[in-house]
Amino acid sequence: MRNYQNRDDYRNNYRRNRRTDRQDAPQVEVEEGQRFPLTIKKMGINGEGIGYYKRMAVFVPGALTGEEAVVEVTSISHRYLRAKVHRIRKASPYRVEPRDSYADQVGGFELEHLAYPQQLEFKRDIVRQSLERYHPYGFKDYDVRPTLGMADPYAYRNKAQFQVRQTDDGTVQAGLYAERSHDLIDLPTCSVQMPVTMTVMRALVGMLQDLEVPIYDEDHNSGIVKTLVVRAAANTDDVQVTFITNSPKLPHKHQLLLRMADELPQVTSVMQNINPGKTSLVWGDKTQRLAGEETITEKLGGLAFKLSARAFLQLNPAQTEVLYDQAKKALDLQPGQTVVDAYSGVGTIGLSLADVAAEVRGMDVIPEAVADANANAELNGITNAHYEVGTAEDLLPKWAVAGFRPDAIVVDPPRTGLDGHLMDTILAIHPEKLVYISCNPSTLAKDLDTLTDDYHVDYIQSVDMMPQTARCEAVVKLSQR
Ligand code: SAH
Repeated sequence: MRNYQNRDDYRNNYRRNRRTDRQDAPQVEVEEGQRFPLTIKKMGINGEGIGYYKRMAVFVPGALTGEEAVVEVTSISHRYLRAKVHRIRKASPYRVEPRDSYADQVGGFELEHLAYPQQLEFKRDIVRQSLERYHPYGFKDYDVRPTLGMADPYAYRNKAQFQVRQTDDGTVQAGLYAERSHDLIDLPTCSVQMPVTMTVMRALVGMLQDLEVPIYDEDHNSGIVKTLVVRAAANTDDVQVTFITNSPKLPHKHQLLLRMADELPQVTSVMQNINPGKTSLVWGDKTQRLAGEETITEKLGGLAFKLSARAFLQLNPAQTEVLYDQAKKALDLQPGQTVVDAYSGVGTIGLSLADVAAEVRGMDVIPEAVADANANAELNGITNAHYEVGTAEDLLPKWAVAGFRPDAIVVDPPRTGLDGHLMDTILAIHPEKLVYISCNPSTLAKDLDTLTDDYHVDYIQSVDMMPQTARCEAVVKLSQR
C-alpha cells in the first residue's frame, strides 16, 4: 500500500477521496417502471446484486454476481436506484433453486438461491467491502480468512419468532412480514428452522384457531396474541414457548395449556410476555410463567446454560461452538489473566474462559440475561465470574476507576457496534488482548477505524452463523501496537 507519513495523513487522504466521489455522483434521467439490461458486478451487504446504469449503482435483490438481467426500476434516490429482476438473460452457474418457495418475499433468505460455497465467499467479500468503505488503518494488509461454514447449512435455527394474524375467514397464520411491509407471509414450513421449532409452531397455530383465541389486529389495536416464539435447545431437547400478547389477559388459557400438555410433551417451558399497544418492539418488559419451567437449558462447549425467554442466545447452536472456539483462540488467554465479557448475554463466552482466567466480569443491559449469567456461573460451579446489569459504556469506565483493569476484553455488541465512549475507555485501559466479535461488518469496519489508533488487526475470521441469509459474523483478533 501507499506510504503515509502518519495515520492522520492516511485518513485525510481517504476522506478527500470520499468527498470527491460524492460530488461526482451522476444524475441520470430514469423513471420508475423503466426497464433496461444490467450486468451484476458484485453483491452488496444485504445480498442484493449491484450493477451500474450510466454509472449509477442499481441494487437488485435476488440477482447474482456475473448475471445478465433485464431489470425494472422500483425506486429512485439521489445516489442509487433499486430495481427488481424482470428476466434473467444469463444465469450464474452458482444459482440454485431455493428450498423455500417464499424465499424471495421475506427477509432472512437473501442467499437461498446461491450455492453454499459461494455464500461463504460472499460473506468474506462483505468483510472486505466494509473495510474498503471505512478503510481502518492498514486495512489492505489485513488477513481476512475464508469463512467457516456448516457441513449441512439447513435446519439450524433454534428459535422461530413469528408474527401471528387472522385472515377474514378466521384462519390463523404465523410467519414473517414481506420485506418493507406489514403483509404477513404464512410459513407452514421453513428449511432453516430446527424441525422441532416448526412442529411446535404449527401445532400452536392450530390450537389458537380451534380455541378461537383472539389474535391481535394491528389496524384496530385489538385482539390478544401478537407473536409466537418457539426456542429449542439443540443439546438437551428442552423447548420453550412464549406467547407475546397485547394485554396480560390470555383468553382460553386453561384449555390451551391443557392441549399443549397433551399434544406437545416436548415443550418444557411456557411463558407469556406482555407488550401492549402498537409498537415496533416485539418484546415487552413483563414476562410471566404459564406452565413448566421459567428457563430452558442449553449445553455448549461442555457447560450448561439456563435461558430466560428474553435472554439472547446465538441462533445456530452448532456454529456457536465454532464461533466461541475462534473467540477463545483469538483471545489466547493465559492462566491468571483477567477478562471482561462485554455484551455478555447469558454469560456463554465469559464462562467458557473461566477455567483459565483469574477473574471474569461481564455485563448486559437485559436484567434477566444477567440473572441467568450469574445463575449459570453457579450451575457450572464457577466462582470467579460475575455479571452486572448495565451498559458496557457505563460499567467498563466505572470498573476502571475502581481499579479493575482487565488484561483482556472480548466485545460482542449488537448490530449497532460499539459506543464511542466505550471505545475511548478501551483505548485508555489499553488491555493487552482484545477480541471483537461482530455481527455487522459495516459497524465493525467503522469501529476498527478508531480501535486501530492503538491496536493492530492480526486477522479477521468470519464464521457463518446464518446460512441462506446475508448475515455475516466475524471474530477479530487485535493486539497492541
Ligand atoms: N455474548 C452473548 C450475547 C451477544 S448479543 C452471546 O454470544 O450469546 C449482544 C448482547 O448485548 C445482547 O444480550 C444485548 O442485550 C446486549 N446489549 C445491547 N446493548 C448493550 C450495551 N450498551 N451494553 C451492554 N450490553 C448490551
